Amino acid sequence: MRVRIGGKYWTLRFSGNLRDYGSMVDPGHAEGRLIRIGTWQGEQDTLDTIIHEALHCARPELDEAAVDATARDISRLLWRLGYRRNP
Ligand SMILES: [Zn+2]
Repeated sequence: MRVRIGGKYWTLRFSGNLRDYGSMVDPGHAEGRLIRIGTWQGEQDTLDTIIHEALHCARPELDEAAVDATARDISRLLWRLGYRRNP
């Protein structure tokens, strides 16, 4: 799907052959901007990974530790509030 994050358009893709939790690539042009989310992980980790990669896209100046801690806090909060994906 096509998503807008940080004023840019990205392709967000759920990938069955991703070993990592997720990844994002910003080559600087709209056609190549890609976020991939690994489908092997559980729902709570998936939520965390989506927020994590979205944060990298929105705030590229943040380092990995800041992105990791922030995504963890937000995903845990949303999970406790009952947010889930539609099956
Ligand atoms: Zn990261």
